[in-house]
Amino acid sequence: MKQLPALLAAMILLLSCCAAPESPAAKDAVAEDAAVCESQLFAMDTYMTLRAYGSAAPSALAEATSLIRTLDAALSAADEGSEIAAVNRSAEPVTVSDDTAALLSRALELSGTLNGALSLTLSPVIRAWGFVSRAYRVPGKEEIAGLLKQVDDTKIQLEGNTVTTPEGTELDLGAVAKGYAADRAAALLQERGVSACILNLGGSTIRTVGTKPDGSLWRIAIRDPKDEEHYAGTLLFGEGAVDTSGGYERFFEGEDGEIYWHILDPATGYPARSGLVSVTVLTGDACTGDALSTALFVMGAEDAVAFWQTRRDFEFVFLTETDDILLSEGVQFTPQGRYADAPITVIRHETDP
Ligand code: ADP
Ligand code: MG
Repeated sequence: MKQLPALLAAMILLLSCCAAPESPAAKDAVAEDAAVCESQLFAMDTYMTLRAYGSAAPSALAEATSLIRTLDAALSAADEGSEIAAVNRSAEPVTVSDDTAALLSRALELSGTLNGALSLTLSPVIRAWGFVSRAYRVPGKEEIAGLLKQVDDTKIQLEGNTVTTPEGTELDLGAVAKGYAADRAAALLQERGVSACILNLGGSTIRTVGTKPDGSLWRIAIRDPKDEEHYAGTLLFGEGAVDTSGGYERFFEGEDGEIYWHILDPATGYPARSGLVSVTVLTGDACTGDALSTALFVMGAEDAVAFWQTRRDFEFVFLTETDDILLSEGVQFTPQGRYADAPITVIRHETDP
């Protein structure tokens, strides 16, 4: 089974371009802008679809695809050849690439401001639950307590491009890597002249540049956390990032009949049961959004709303265990399906910035 993703990855690298169906042959600038090009790849353990518009798109997308693969190779903790694995093997300082250093710097900053809800050193605990090997199990209380002693992001030192992690501390940037890759790919596409694109990295990270070529907003669906075939609703969104974290992404049922999912509360080492089942964050950059969606899921609605009140740089959609919807005031969200008549609470800023 392990080979399947690699095999699919090889097969699926596909670059397809065509003029937008409505455009009457590319004879004017409008048709030129509307020509859409799409690239699909398997990277960072997920399927990605990169869609860009305009004449610069085909070659820019090929470059963005290879950039994402390079980032994946550097950042994957599970890959022995990655920079992160090298950092984890050594208690001595290790020199990393500019991208790994930039992401780590941002990730440490985010972990510092998120009150322990996001941890970059949680790997030993995540592994104990079987979320890496997929040999799922419920670890004992003492085992978790022992492993939690290894969880401490302040032990990671970054100076320039040099990272030092002491013996026993393990770095994993998995909760933010996709977001960073999306931002870098978007920036590269822009540098190459693309002014409209939508990058979908596994559904949980969406990064856009501009609007659709016709000037309309992007429509981004949020899936129903209890039913992967259906959506909970649709967002209208301009330029930036939409990141979602949900317990449904990876979970197992224990012998006790309980559902255990892959987002853990670093304070307890157990899956975060905060009352939220899906957290979507709308921000300017996907790296921040990726970190926030994971962390707010851990915090739960009350703490997450209190955190949002202190900030002006993101909006959110929360879906609760009881099928309620919580929206921040700046979101354009239309519920659908099972959520069409769900109770909606709109949260407003208590004070002006
Ligand atoms: P996705 O993989 O869809 O982006 P997340 O961004 O929510 O989902 O990241 C979840 C991954 O991050 C988990 O698979 C796990 O490896 C790791 N993780 C789980 N809980 C935490 C946490 N509290 N802080 C940081 N990383 C976490
Ligand atoms: Mg995340």
